[in-house]
Amino acid sequence: MPRTPNPSSGKSLTIHAKTLSDEEKIRAYKEIHARNEDLKINASVMGHVDNFLKRHNWPPGNSQTLMSVFTEQKKIQQKCGREGCEESAIGKAEAKNGWQGFLCQRHYRQSRDARLLRKWRKLK
Ligand SMILES: [Zn+2]
Repeated sequence: MPRTPNPSSGKSLTIHAKTLSDEEKIRAYKEIHARNEDLKINASVMGHVDNFLKRHNWPPGNSQTLMSVFTEQKKIQQKCGREGCEESAIGKAEAKNGWQGFLCQRHYRQSRDARLLRKWRKLK
């Protein structure tokens, strides 16, 4: 049976190890934080808490969360298919030699001007 939350304990979170393995992990967690001045246990744990709450759509009734389901467009940013090029693609090309892939602005113009392309479809 689930326990009801104690409203007076909202300001703190105490975790007790239930197994030896958990005890070891908690000790290591504290040691790592003690060795690194930049790490703060409070900030670290609150980061886990934030992620947990996000996964469980907290706070409830947050219309922003629900609206994004309908408005968010999963747009995958394609990269240029030329080796070593990290630019975003502007279209999909089919070269006369059979090569197919995405091209950035610069490589599209290069290929077009060299008349290497058979087909070109600009990405929306
Ligand atoms: Zn490129």
